[in-house]
Amino acid sequence: MEITEIMVRYGELSTKGKNKKKFIKILYKNITNKLKRFDGLKVSYNRDRMHINLNGENAESVIEELQEVFGIQSFSPVIRVERSVDAAKEAVIQLIENNYVPGMSFKINTRRSDHTFEYDTNEVNRLLGSVVEEHFKNIHVKMKNPTATIRVEIRKRGIFISVDTIKGRGGLPVGSGGTGMLMLSGGIDSPVAGYLSLKRGMRIEAIHFHSPPYTSPQALKKAKDLTVKLSRYAGELTFIEVPFTEIQEQIKKVIPEEYSMTITRRMMMRLTDEIRIKRNGLAIINGESLGQVASQTLESMAAINAVTNTPVLRPLISMDKIDIIDIAKKIDTYELAIQPFEDCCTIFASNRPKTKPKMQKVADLERALDVESLMQKAIENIRIQTISTEINEQNEIEKQFANLL
Ligand code: ATP
Ligand code: MG
Repeated sequence: MEITEIMVRYGELSTKGKNKKKFIKILYKNITNKLKRFDGLKVSYNRDRMHINLNGENAESVIEELQEVFGIQSFSPVIRVERSVDAAKEAVIQLIENNYVPGMSFKINTRRSDHTFEYDTNEVNRLLGSVVEEHFKNIHVKMKNPTATIRVEIRKRGIFISVDTIKGRGGLPVGSGGTGMLMLSGGIDSPVAGYLSLKRGMRIEAIHFHSPPYTSPQALKKAKDLTVKLSRYAGELTFIEVPFTEIQEQIKKVIPEEYSMTITRRMMMRLTDEIRIKRNGLAIINGESLGQVASQTLESMAAINAVTNTPVLRPLISMDKIDIIDIAKKIDTYELAIQPFEDCCTIFASNRPKTKPKMQKVADLERALDVESLMQKAIENIRIQTISTEINEQNEIEKQFANLL
């Protein structure tokens, strides 16, 4: 007997009142997009549930994909059988067999929307319960917190039997929460910040600064590979490459070393904000965590942040490194991130960056730079590319900004 469909529960979406319909539609779109390689599937939904009719497709592969979709609280594999108690018995035995552990407890929970069925819910519970006890050794009925709850729904179209509620990824459907520009380095933190933003339903575009020839093609590739990993939770992602060499060279030349980090970061923030405006984003996201390194003291963040009024979201601000690493491992970005290809900041890093930069001093020193023209040149030469589960060079859109507007 095969799993015939998967039932999806929405979770937090159910608290969305009037917006609920909109959220469910976005989730539907994300799920069908995620599952597009399966030809036979039929997805339908109502206010409370989504049903994925497998039509012979492999349940495990579909479940694997669903586990990467935000906005799903839980889901259950379902076996649909004809409306007969014998068929239901067979399905229940099969489902328990799949989940059997010696000493386990279970309960049968029957609902009947079709009242013409020959038995009522209590009778069905009893009939199916006793067949389980006869068939398996070392199993017992338990009403409160059983190991497995078998749900039986008797409807006109047949009997739907499910067990084993699988936890979904939670969060809100990507695309339900506006767009943020993710400042994506090749490090451990920023991909995790991106992941957590996606989790709350934001759409993200990745912005990466690189400084060839000081930074290698591998460092750029690493940032793109990290974007590929994130795209598993986002569908397609936009990757924006910003040439940063000239700005870093200029800073090295005219800015005292202890202020170079602060001013470098301010330039990154300005450029990100400029790109955000052109791409209709609402926020900037970075991977800063308080106290982690010199640029991540409050004084430093304030001096860097002072170049914009745009909300700068820092999903990792209060997290310990060990917890960030934990998430990075779970989303499979950790191994990539620790590859030793340095990004632009490390290459030009000072040995003694100011941890408490003075705002006025920063502004004074910055006058030595031609901020406007440096920015304009960088913006004119950005490259924009869409990245989905694999980097497709054919897909690369090497457009300058002007063409994009
Ligand atoms: P990460 O692990 O994300 O690199 P980090 O702990 O190494 O973070 P920093 O190098 O100080 O910290 O960078 C702080 C944040 O600035 C990063 O999380 C990222 O959001 C942004 N950032 C740093 N370098 C780059 C870059 N080359 N391109 C885009 N964003 C960057
Ligand atoms: Mg870094």
